[in-house]
Amino acid sequence: MKQIGSSIDGAAARIAPVFDPATGAQTAEVVLASVADVDRVVQASATAFASWRDTSLTARSRILFAFRELADRHRDDLARLITAEHGKVLEDARGEVARGIEVIEFACGIPHLMKGEFSEDVSTGVDASSIRQPLGVVAGITPFNFPVMVPMWMYPVAIACGNTFILKPSERDPSPSDMIAELWSQAGLPDNVFSVVHGDAEAVNALLDHPLVAAVSFVGSTPIARHVFERGHASAKRVQALGGAKNHAVVLPDADLDSTADALIAAGYGSAGERCMAISAVVVVGDADPLVAAVAERARALVTGPGTDPTSDMGPLITQVHRDRVAGYVDSAEADGADIVVDGRGLDIVGDGFFFGPTLVDRVTPDMSVYRDEIFGPVLAVLRVDTLDEAIALVNANPFGNGTAIFTRDGYSARRFRRDVSVGMVGINVAIPVPMAYYSFGGWKQSLFGDAHIHGMEGVRFNTRLKSITTRWPDDQGAADTGRIALHFPSGDKR
Ligand code: NAD
Repeated sequence: MKQIGSSIDGAAARIAPVFDPATGAQTAEVVLASVADVDRVVQASATAFASWRDTSLTARSRILFAFRELADRHRDDLARLITAEHGKVLEDARGEVARGIEVIEFACGIPHLMKGEFSEDVSTGVDASSIRQPLGVVAGITPFNFPVMVPMWMYPVAIACGNTFILKPSERDPSPSDMIAELWSQAGLPDNVFSVVHGDAEAVNALLDHPLVAAVSFVGSTPIARHVFERGHASAKRVQALGGAKNHAVVLPDADLDSTADALIAAGYGSAGERCMAISAVVVVGDADPLVAAVAERARALVTGPGTDPTSDMGPLITQVHRDRVAGYVDSAEADGADIVVDGRGLDIVGDGFFFGPTLVDRVTPDMSVYRDEIFGPVLAVLRVDTLDEAIALVNANPFGNGTAIFTRDGYSARRFRRDVSVGMVGINVAIPVPMAYYSFGGWKQSLFGDAHIHGMEGVRFNTRLKSITTRWPDDQGAADTGRIALHFPSGDKR
């Protein structure tokens, strides 16, 4: 059995199974780090920081370029590792790697991104400037659903800024992170500037409590995001904790039926709904029947199967437990009186893979658990309202605020939606409005605890701290000294 990770605790180490979700078979075991393991990695990372922060911007940038080339060359290898442990179809895994590489490309421009500000003569003979300096050891804790892309939201920017970085990936699909560590090493990154710690809650809490960890970037479910935010803050760390989602698509009566239905299929069922930007609630203004029929027809035609099979549109879910949980939500929607228009529970599939078919539930109301909770599976819930105002109120009343989209041909309605909706990322006729690497990614409300969104300029600011400098150089040529020492702030006009 393949073993991932190691522990100084030797025989006493805890382990967790890793599965191929398409077959249900265990393919590896991951050794879960102890508090002592985490401490060892943090100490090494802190030592490496002393010289990495002194490495010039040009040298850092060159290593990033080299890493980008290696990641590019290994796109397919990374995608295959994702599919083997996560289950998503290979094409989707390739897309994940591509989006991650864009963040490396952004970080290659670090010499430009780290430029400070300078003002000459803020007072006579006095200059003011600001610089951004790295924080030290930054930890990243990531979820199972994007084992390559989500970590890439974090470490290229953190490392480019001069920090050292410790990645604690999901224990459910840990292998891609080891490959990333190997690519960094080949790119010439000094030892311990990037480290991987495999583990579970024990490793996460050890990182959160460790006094040498300066900052934590977290992406995962809302309850854990809240925990990470609170515990990290308790030990005075900088924390950004991105949480779960319930993303709404609002469809107005003037939207193009076919292209909207196509977009909803991609956003609802892509990656079997295991995306934080997946659409899971469709809010239809006016008559919903034509749209429900168009989505249902397309959903029934989707092929659910192994991610390695090029004919599959949708792979399995991550675990059997998760598959059963998703089925439970459909059971409860049915018991609550919703219409199960397309039912993924009875999927006819050979073997023990964790498959669940595309599911469309109509006439859902906001009190039903199928609407209230994040399901993280291929389940689209349709809610019917009469006006755009009602639709916006529904979206804004939801505790999550990650992504949302509106489908319409009317610019005024789209503008109103964009302006008034309490959600961090908005699409206008774009179902999954994932920002480009040079913008920043993040939700509002319970989808993000902390102030900073991730990657882009928000990422640079999160990974650095500001220092402001005020400078006066005495005039050695002997300008007259009044001999008087001022004890007060300058009043302004004499500056
Ligand atoms: P999760 O919260 O279970 O796990 C995330 C990380 O936290 C993992 O590394 C895990 O080991 C660790 N963890 C789990 N339980 C813990 C505990 N009790 N204490 C400390 N650490 C713990 O999330 P997941 O199931 O791996 O991923 C799916 C979730 O991630 C969904 O809710 C999804 O919406 C969310 N997500 C959000 C975004 C975003 O950008 N907002 C992106 C991707 C995924």
